[in-house]
Amino acid sequence: MTDPHKTDDIINEGLNPWLPDVAIIGAGPSGSLLALVLARSGLSVALLDQAQFPRRKVCGGCLNGRAMAALASCGLGHLLERLGARPVTQVQLCVGRQRATLPLPATQSVSRTAFDAALIAEAQAAGVAFFSGTRVSMGAICGGYRQLDYGARPEPSIAGRTPPQGAKIVVLAHGLRDGAIAKNSRLGAGTLLNQVPQPLSEDRLLMLIGRGGYVGGVRVEGGQYDLAAALDVAFLKAHGTLALAVNDLFQQAGYEAMPEIAAADWRGTPLLTRRRQAIAGQRWFAVGDAAGYVEPFTGEGMAWAMSGALALAPLVQSSVATWDSGAIAAWSQLHQRVIAVRQWPCRIMSQVLRSRLLSLGLVGGLQFFPGLARPVMQVMNRPQTTTGRAMI
Ligand SMILES: Cc1cc2nc3c(=O)[nH]c(=O)nc-3n(C[C@H](O)[C@H](O)[C@H](O)COP(=O)(O)OP(=O)(O)OC[C@H]3O[C@@H](n4cnc5c(N)ncnc54)[C@H](O)[C@@H]3O)c2cc1C
Repeated sequence: MTDPHKTDDIINEGLNPWLPDVAIIGAGPSGSLLALVLARSGLSVALLDQAQFPRRKVCGGCLNGRAMAALASCGLGHLLERLGARPVTQVQLCVGRQRATLPLPATQSVSRTAFDAALIAEAQAAGVAFFSGTRVSMGAICGGYRQLDYGARPEPSIAGRTPPQGAKIVVLAHGLRDGAIAKNSRLGAGTLLNQVPQPLSEDRLLMLIGRGGYVGGVRVEGGQYDLAAALDVAFLKAHGTLALAVNDLFQQAGYEAMPEIAAADWRGTPLLTRRRQAIAGQRWFAVGDAAGYVEPFTGEGMAWAMSGALALAPLVQSSVATWDSGAIAAWSQLHQRVIAVRQWPCRIMSQVLRSRLLSLGLVGGLQFFPGLARPVMQVMNRPQTTTGRAMI
């Protein structure tokens, strides 16, 4: 039960008279796309991110067919072309000296620096109030609102507007943060090189699977080259730095250690595979990586994040109009149908690739029968409705 007098307390305290319908914590693809859709439907939306944009994000930067369909369904089909994203038509899988080259259906590569900033700009154009450099966490329930907690730091003011004290609904879209971490979880690492290193091809996505992890490399807009890796903790410890560990993966695949990789500015992530106990509660929902994440081998994270945002939007709209605690179970079930079931192939693949023998068998098989990968790729790329059904 909510206490309407407490809502008045927030307002009467004069802390902040602006209490939007929705506050979204995290402006990655899930948070920004959700913000945009909700603002277009007439809701007042605050989008808050701790980072100053444009910012770097560890990611392979590949958007598959499902991710592109999610963008197109919001009228953002033009975005990738405008950013100079590059079509990726092939992936080369390498285990040791063994290689298999497979055709990739509908994939584009773009740096997250450019992509995330562009999505935020689209959300702002739709009327979203965006607060960068604003670290925040979800607070307690207060009347018909969920409070926001900015800690002890003074609240920043963006263009004369202070971030809200609370909102009718809070959405956690803050990426990898909470949740139970899976045993043997790997951590992520990434960098953006100013040009494609000499021995690497400009035209295809390269995936090197080695002892200790895997690394993917692809050219993105402006001639830059994105490298993103998932590494075993022990492997990283043995090498001491992200750059040395990644160079080792290249050497295992027969390349020379590359000075560009050694000199690059590498970023790491928290441990990757995690699951939240609950992905919704009283006046809050979690979406994107914040709702649970598996390793990135199949490069579907942004598709999951954006499909999740589109699936959640109607539930947030109805929850703003009237809060009904049935929404908690509704989101858990919908998330299971739209996202969690889709994560299983990636989970299985990540386990297979931990075995040297199975990795060699897989890449060896695909080398001679590349068509075997086609059904899996088709399923990964197929656009999806917001109820979880695949569109034909
Ligand atoms: C090595 C690697 C390679 C990958 N490659 C691919 C790929 O090729 N293709 C693909 O589709 N996916 C890939 N992914 C996955 C993809 O990066 C994520 O799934 C995707 O970014 C999830 O989007 P999101 O919006 O949920 O969260 P994020 O993009 O992580 O955004 C979360 C945002 O929340 C902000 N934030 C966090 N805490 C707070 C706080 N307290 N207050 C305010 N703001 C906060 C952060 O600053 C961040 O901007 C890869 C991931 C890794 C680790």
